[in-house]
This record gives sequence, C-alpha cells and structure tokens, in this order.
Amino acid sequence: MQPSQAASTEIRVIFTAEQIATQIGVVARQIAAAKLDNLLVVAVLKGSFVFAADLIRALHNVGLSPEIDFLTLSSYRKATASSGTVQILRDMELLVADRNVLIVDDILESGRTLAFAKDLLAARGARAIRTCVLLDKKVRRAVQIDADFTAFDCPEVFVVGYGMDAGHRFRELPYVGHVVKT
Ligand code: 5GP
Ligand code: MG
Repeated sequence: MQPSQAASTEIRVIFTAEQIATQIGVVARQIAAAKLDNLLVVAVLKGSFVFAADLIRALHNVGLSPEIDFLTLSSYRKATASSGTVQILRDMELLVADRNVLIVDDILESGRTLAFAKDLLAARGARAIRTCVLLDKKVRRAVQIDADFTAFDCPEVFVVGYGMDAGHRFRELPYVGHVVKT
C-alpha cells in the first residue's frame, strides 16, 4: 500500500504551546515597560496572525489597549532567494503618521521583510517604530536588522505551526515544529 503524504509527514515539536504562552507573557511585559502610548500593532500577514492574536491579549493583560491593523507582504518563498524583493500584497487601513507602531512578524530570517515594513511605515511618518518577532533565525541575516522584542531564538530549520505554513498547511498547529519526513 502506498503511504499517504499525511501519513508520511511527522512534525517534531520545537516550542510547545505552553512555552509559547509563557514567553509571550514575558514579551508583553517588556513591551509594556517601553511605555509606548497610543500604540498601533501592525501584524505582518499571513504568518503572524496567531502570534499577533495571542500577543494583543497578553498586552491587554499587562494593561495596554493597542489598536491593530494588518499588512500582507509577499512570502520569501514566492521570490527567488537571490532577488530578495518584498511586495505589498494587501495594505493596511489605518494611518501611522505620528503614532507609536509595533510591527509584529512570525520569523526574522534574512531581515528583508521586517526592514521593508519598517522603511514603509517610517516613510509614512510613524513617530516611533518597534519590532516584535516570535522567532529569530540570527545566522540567516542578509540585512542588518534586529528585533526590539523576540520570543525565541530559532534553530536553522524550516518551521511550521502556530500560524506558519509549508505549502498552506500546518498553520493550525498550536505549537512550533519542524517537518520531518519519515
Ligand atoms: P526574511 O524576510 O526575514 O528572510 O523572512 C521572513 C519571512 O519568511 C517570515 O516572516 C516568514 O513568513 C518566512 N519564513 C522564514 N523562515 C521560515 C520558516 O522556517 N518557516 C516558515 N513557515 N516561514 C518562514
Ligand atoms: Mg512572515
């Protein structure tokens, strides 16, 4: 019998749901300590939607009342690795001029996505821009950028789950894992 693709796919857990929840609480307290008034959270879609949803509730728990908007940027897998171009697939609705903005993304890898989002919002007149990522793959950087708030340093593997996909699959997993073919 031919094994199905689902049956032949195994996910190795890297960060459990409990570890993620704990670490998001830590990050939320760091963000609160930065005293960013009138905060606008900008979640970079699609990958950050689960992280952003948990983060804004953690921000509520530490006394913040952020507004939230969404910016859909092209995934790095759609561009060739060498071109490294980032495109806006769907723009945000709210104006950022004169506001404290917190850009939220799932993974910081080459840095191109986050640098693009930062430059875009700076050009639109944001007063101050902070960045927050769930995962940092530090050694993959092509652009000089660091996140202001990071939940986890990430090993050099392709991860899925907790909003992140491989070919549109696995976003629903409550943990971050690594796809291992068996
Ligand atoms: P960068 O522009 O920093 O190279 O890439 C960041 C984006 O690439 C992330 O926001 C994420 O969407 C995607 N990405 C990078 N590494 C991974 C990975 O291991 N798994 C998944 N699912 N997406 C990734
Ligand atoms: Mg992303």
